[in-house]
Amino acid sequence: MKLDPRAMRYLTSEDFRVLSAVEAGSRNHEVVPTPLIVQLSGLRGGSGVHKCISNLAKNNLIAKVKNAKYDGYRLTYGGLDYLALNTHQKQGGIYSVGNQVGVGKESDIIVVANSTGSQRILKIHRLGRISFRTVKTNRDYLRHRNTGSWMYMSRLAAMKEFAFMKALRDNGFPVPEPIAQNRHTIVMSLIDAFPLRQISVVPNPAVMYAELMEMILRLAKFGLIHGDFNEFNILIKEESDPNAKGKASQKAESSKVIRLVPILIDFPQMVSVDHVNAEMYFDRDVNCIKTFFRRRFHFTSEEPGPFFSDAKNGLLENPTKRLDVEVEASGFSRKMARELEAYMKEIGVDGDNHTAKEGEDGVESGNDNEDEDESSEEIESGGDHVDKLQLSGYHMEKEAQSLDG
Ligand code: ADP
Ligand code: MG
Repeated sequence: MKLDPRAMRYLTSEDFRVLSAVEAGSRNHEVVPTPLIVQLSGLRGGSGVHKCISNLAKNNLIAKVKNAKYDGYRLTYGGLDYLALNTHQKQGGIYSVGNQVGVGKESDIIVVANSTGSQRILKIHRLGRISFRTVKTNRDYLRHRNTGSWMYMSRLAAMKEFAFMKALRDNGFPVPEPIAQNRHTIVMSLIDAFPLRQISVVPNPAVMYAELMEMILRLAKFGLIHGDFNEFNILIKEESDPNAKGKASQKAESSKVIRLVPILIDFPQMVSVDHVNAEMYFDRDVNCIKTFFRRRFHFTSEEPGPFFSDAKNGLLENPTKRLDVEVEASGFSRKMARELEAYMKEIGVDGDNHTAKEGEDGVESGNDNEDEDESSEEIESGGDHVDKLQLSGYHMEKEAQSLDG
């Protein structure tokens, strides 16, 4: 399932009303009966509505379902995408759609721009899209999934991610700026950086390692465990370091003025430190970083831990600010969190990290991440550089599709 925005500009406001009607109808109907679509659209003159219906079906935004009892339509992922895009466009969040820069198991990541050309990221949650890894185990379950559940669950994932991103950002964590959320999508600022996964060498692994462990502990201090804290979900941004400039010798100046700043992304699986499995998630996050640093940078810290008990102590020192509680109060309820967690477990989503489970073989963990960019495996070590080739994917001027006519 790929976002194809081309038909967007040819759809009329009536088409969108009918599309919204199918969406509304699918809250209570697996297959929305045609007369109900007509009724919910609120449009007079039956033939006009039927023209819209066939137009939407032609563009795969709704799909005809012949049922034993009646004929009707269901909303497709494409249809839901268009509804969300239309809302983002109306609100000014998105004006044009550019390249897809990432395909995760349960999301698509697309560069978009607003009307002034400022680039952003659109993340489309696609929970329930059959994941490569879990096809077998979940086949039976997925056969019975219905439109309502994937739409609802993908929306929950987007709501959760947006709520956490906002809470983290408001409290000074290095995360993208959350801009808007609608249905199963979020718009956030684009981070011009590479995942840690694609970085072959860093000047000082110990410093970065310490920073990441500090981030894990700081999250816990605010009541949170990321739950998928790994080299795919940490983007390494190059920033000029004003402090280093004066100190650097002339020769080394150019390399010293750059500071590597880790930015954390991907929050649908965050859990509270009060979660029953909190300690397991905490240890897993810590071990992912340890394993990655050992394999990629041949760095092993002399200090043991950090341990969950350290995190708990940190929480006691900082009892006033609980972001897990704050997020709950902001509208992403505990009930929603439970529903989402149960669904993610059922379809086999457990983050995109699996390095920690592979034991001590020291082998790169490329094969278990089929959906990640293969080119990341080709980075040669030895140069003190960040591979910049991937950046070309971020430039969208030529291919950007304006959503307007
Ligand atoms: P998933 O849940 O599918 O793992 P992520 O949120 O981790 O999705 O995003 C997948 C990839 O997309 C990331 O590894 C990163 O390369 C890219 N990406 C995601 N968000 C941003 C962003 N705000 N800026 C730049 N790149 C991003
Ligand atoms: Mg990710």
